[in-house]
Amino acid sequence: MSIKKDGKLGMHSDITRRDFLNGASIALGGALITPALQASSLNTSISHAQNTPGYYPPTRSGMRGSHPGSFELGHLIRDGKRWDSPNDSTDTGEMFDLVVVGGGISGLAAAYFFQKEHGPDARILIIENHDDFGGHAKRNEFHYKDHTLIDLGGAEYLENPRSYPKHAKALTEDLGIDTSQSQEVFNHKLYSSLDLRGGIFFQSDDPSKDKLVAGKSGLYNSKYQSAYVSLPAELENSVGVAKDVRAFIDQTPLSKETRDEINELFSGETDYLPGIPVDDKIIKLRSLSYTEFLKDIVGATQETLEFFHMWRTSYMGIALDLAPALSAMSYGLPGSKGLGLIEYFKRHGYQRDHREDFHFPDGNASVARLIVRRLIPETAPGNTMHDIITAHFDYSKLDRPESPVKIRLNSTAVHVQHKNEKTVEVTYVEGQSASRVQARNCVMACYHAIVPHICPELPETQKEALRKTIRTPLVSISVLLDNWTAFNNLGIKSAYCPTSFASDIRLGYPLKFHGYQSATKPEQPIMLHMYRIPAPGGGIIAREQFRLGRHELLTMPFETFERNLREQLSRMLKDGGFDPIRDIQGITVNRWPHGYAVGYNYEEEKIGYFSDGEWPDEKRLWLIGRKKHGRIAFANSDANASAMNETAIEQAYRATRDLMNSS
Ligand SMILES: Cc1cc2nc3c(=O)[nH]c(=O)nc-3n(C[C@H](O)[C@H](O)[C@H](O)COP(=O)(O)OP(=O)(O)OC[C@H]3O[C@@H](n4cnc5c(N)ncnc54)[C@H](O)[C@@H]3O)c2cc1C
Repeated sequence: MSIKKDGKLGMHSDITRRDFLNGASIALGGALITPALQASSLNTSISHAQNTPGYYPPTRSGMRGSHPGSFELGHLIRDGKRWDSPNDSTDTGEMFDLVVVGGGISGLAAAYFFQKEHGPDARILIIENHDDFGGHAKRNEFHYKDHTLIDLGGAEYLENPRSYPKHAKALTEDLGIDTSQSQEVFNHKLYSSLDLRGGIFFQSDDPSKDKLVAGKSGLYNSKYQSAYVSLPAELENSVGVAKDVRAFIDQTPLSKETRDEINELFSGETDYLPGIPVDDKIIKLRSLSYTEFLKDIVGATQETLEFFHMWRTSYMGIALDLAPALSAMSYGLPGSKGLGLIEYFKRHGYQRDHREDFHFPDGNASVARLIVRRLIPETAPGNTMHDIITAHFDYSKLDRPESPVKIRLNSTAVHVQHKNEKTVEVTYVEGQSASRVQARNCVMACYHAIVPHICPELPETQKEALRKTIRTPLVSISVLLDNWTAFNNLGIKSAYCPTSFASDIRLGYPLKFHGYQSATKPEQPIMLHMYRIPAPGGGIIAREQFRLGRHELLTMPFETFERNLREQLSRMLKDGGFDPIRDIQGITVNRWPHGYAVGYNYEEEKIGYFSDGEWPDEKRLWLIGRKKHGRIAFANSDANASAMNETAIEQAYRATRDLMNSS
């Protein structure tokens, strides 16, 4: 890329973004673990980084998510480094009732349930390898022109919280999250009142052939449209929508044959599997990917396949060559109408009113913050779901000697082992020091794939099951915009970009809490959200695609992310008067190499979503992986192979019950 072009894109502008430690720091582990530390005990009195004055990770920008410094030790462990001798660490002398490994929603919820059962004096330590708590439920915060702008760095919202399972529901209610206010806090009319719709951006190899098709045709039914997904409403396959696909699709640069196919898929009544009972269709559609459905059953063109390849990937975490056709259709991919599946989807809750989803400005980071404030009240003022939005957390209160609950950040658990029947010893590395603590109980709430390397004493079958846990890589990008007049001028609030660096782009959710209001006028600063899902496709099996994706995420420098997204936005919005130098004022790239938890069938190398018990128990490896072992229990969304907030919470509850039932 020429320096001249970089200048036009604003690559050298002075914005809130770079920490200069980026993907290139993949080799940092070497520097982080000095030979002295590798040799033996180095522990001195640790001064936790989180106690430094002004420590407030939500305002850190640049490369976030799995930020430099958070994952290198995990990779060293994976590659064989061990801390299994007492000489490798120093005993802090601390004894806890519970040590939790992993400070994501599941780890925090495990501490919450344990405290609820054992009372406020229960001594609990949460060990977390990131510089912030919350795991995927992460907050990005910007301060610009007297505005506080808050965005999500990972987990977006509480999906269908009215149908939450028992313990997740009880926890959210106890924290004061009033999900009946979902429509009060979310201004569903804002973008439609400005006549903004979803669009599709076709980015071409030749910039002069780029085309943005804006969805201003006025046919819109927001009720059933998931706020998560940035799609033109005209192409939604939900109840009452898809009225004017033809008019919309005819504006695209696609060939006539492809346009006819897409039109028929969305608005036609073709039964692509004629003469087969619905139950058999369901079995068939589970066994195929959506791409195979298009190719082998619909007989679609290559252009149609490419058009759909990235559709809804930010929701599913995978592209359509890996997504089971039935799941893809249940999430809105077209073709199900003529197949007679609408009733089936309704029955399973897929066609529901998405306005009931509950959104905080920082996504589910507010849930994490509410739990932390409950566990350690000194960390932040306030007591409602409204005041949590602007509450400033004092991170120096997370790990104080006098507090029964402690959260130790920047600390990676490296060895977990029973000392005897009643005590588990947990070794962790923080900075240059390896320390160990004792616990009566331990909950592993970290990614399951790392557990066999940390807990070598587990039975081989369990370790094998844990090792096979799989997670999808994805990148969730927050961009601070000075204004969104270009979006307003073009009539779009979001765009699907099948051929671009980021496949999904959307303006921030229009939210209003007491004391916090996101932008309501195009002239005001706003958060823009973009998603990149590395999806090489090409017939590669999911496990291998994820490995390649993780590699991309950890090696791609921040500068490359920045240049690509600047170019994409500049080209997509150019006719709306977008100026990347003036309009882009901050960038945070939240990369998640270990993103959504999903189920994986190793014999068939297939992903499953198990909405209705489609796999027999023996294929559900997570049932073996999560079995309690002595005083060690297993939480995390991996424990039910489902990337949902409610799963993380329910599994935390189950893990703490596992421990209680055997004490
Ligand atoms: C981009 C993105 C968007 C999402 N959107 C939604 C959404 O809208 N709604 C929804 O319900 N769900 C969403 N999810 C799913 C999300 O994963 C779950 O909702 C939930 O937050 C998972 O929590 P968890 O605690 O199980 O796992 P995690 O959030 O992964 O937490 C595990 C923690 O353990 C830490 N850890 C790992 N190893 C160690 C170690 N050795 N020592 C110390 N710590 C360790 C990890 O770094 C991490 O912080 C999203 C996920 C992603 C990535």
